[in-house]
Amino acid sequence: MSIFSNLVAGEWVSGDTSCLNVSPSDTGDVVGDYADATPAQVRDAAAAARIAGAQWAVAAPGVRADLLRRIADEIERRTDELGLLLSREEGKALRDARGEVARAADIFRFYAGEVVRMAGERFASLRVGVSVEVLHEPVGIVGLITPWNFPILIPAWKIAPALAYGNAVLFKPSELVPGSAWALADIIDKAGCPKGLFSLLMGDGAVGRAIVENVDAVSFTGSVATGTAVAQLAAARMIPAQCELGGKNPLVIAADADLGLAVECAVQGSFLQTGQRCTASSRLIVDASLADRFTEALAARMGQLIVDVGPSLETDIGPVVDERQLEKDLSYIALAEAEGARRVTGGEPLQRATPGHFLAPALFADTHNAMRVNREEIFGPIACIIPVEGYEEALDVANDTEFGLSASIVTNSLKLAQHFKANIRSGLAMVNLPTAGVEFHVPLSGMKASSYGPAEMGHHAMRFYTKVRTAYTFAA
Ligand code: NDP
Repeated sequence: MSIFSNLVAGEWVSGDTSCLNVSPSDTGDVVGDYADATPAQVRDAAAAARIAGAQWAVAAPGVRADLLRRIADEIERRTDELGLLLSREEGKALRDARGEVARAADIFRFYAGEVVRMAGERFASLRVGVSVEVLHEPVGIVGLITPWNFPILIPAWKIAPALAYGNAVLFKPSELVPGSAWALADIIDKAGCPKGLFSLLMGDGAVGRAIVENVDAVSFTGSVATGTAVAQLAAARMIPAQCELGGKNPLVIAADADLGLAVECAVQGSFLQTGQRCTASSRLIVDASLADRFTEALAARMGQLIVDVGPSLETDIGPVVDERQLEKDLSYIALAEAEGARRVTGGEPLQRATPGHFLAPALFADTHNAMRVNREEIFGPIACIIPVEGYEEALDVANDTEFGLSASIVTNSLKLAQHFKANIRSGLAMVNLPTAGVEFHVPLSGMKASSYGPAEMGHHAMRFYTKVRTAYTFAA
């Protein structure tokens, strides 16, 4: 089997070691063998990025926009093929995988437009005859480190703004999903990206650390533990860090909620994409007056979900990403029962036609917010119902967490909706919508342990990918 190389300083180069990319839907299906970048290659990539980045920073905006548009067009043209690759390597249901690829194309197109919206500001001066301008300039070389759960979307929402706002890029995807990242790098290269401006550096956490040591800013998405290490290393080097981290997101079902809508929000937010979303609703905080009816209706709806191989249009929920994550999910399911939670449905490993990491989505009832299953991020298709007496208690429980990424309420009351949006301590506040499902033209950021540094996405991304310079001019 040939080995997929890294793109270093404009050349595709092999490494000393490599990593097999195995499908979680069928452990006999090897998607490919992907080279690990060496520390020397990371340094070479940084040296080339320094040179190419200096030219890119002053390139005509039209040149930058055209590159991003060509990348978007090619991703879009290959949506089905890339969707299948993504689904094979991550396990995501094919419909979701294709949707993710299409969204990645949209993001490159959005940031092609952002190139010319990179406006500064002009102020009056305190002095006569003086004007003051605030200008945005590229940061330089940015390191982009991404997790496995959105193999093309998260890379897109970092790479596109980085290039649009005039930076060079060193990109490290997760070792579990290098296939989509490799395909994206190939597209970027073939779209005419200047040599050395963008490097793909695959491998494990050591490659990530080496990147942080060689860049001017780092944007990271992943777990709190790794994000903390990345932010600490960035701080030691005095470079900016943007970290998007985990969640323990609450979905509040108020007493006046539409039951059907509440069930759909829970299904979408808790179990689709195998619950492997930072914005997944793992805590279902339900008014006690409808807890029984909600539990019964949700369990019935879960029974209709098809858990099977990712690459199939019939599948609703694909496998868990790998054996280690499946073991983690099963250990939390055992813990929930040990803590006294009542298992309503699911939670058992499933056999399918191919050997894979299949797990029936699990619903627990009669839980309380102090249980470890309600405090620690599991990152699997597991949700716990927490019954509460009224909205005030629901809000207290929703806010009683170290995380603050996304939160939702299902209610027919405008008053409750407004109060919730104003008082929930999370970066995303949803009303009558699932906790998961964000759009790319508006910011994504969390509160508390869920985020560190400026928001990602939308025009707000400019705050991280540029630095400001203030210019004073006296014209008599
Ligand atoms: P990890 O934190 O394990 O890894 C994230 C990335 O960091 C991977 O590419 C990993 O490499 C790399 N890495 C590991 N160690 C280091 C290090 N010391 N220095 C630099 N990079 C390193 O997260 P997961 O991949 O398991 O992703 C799941 C997590 O991501 C969940 O906590 C989830 O909530 C969070 N997430 C947050 C989102 C948000 O927007 N807030 C969105 C999506 C996910 P490798 O794994 O290849 O070794």
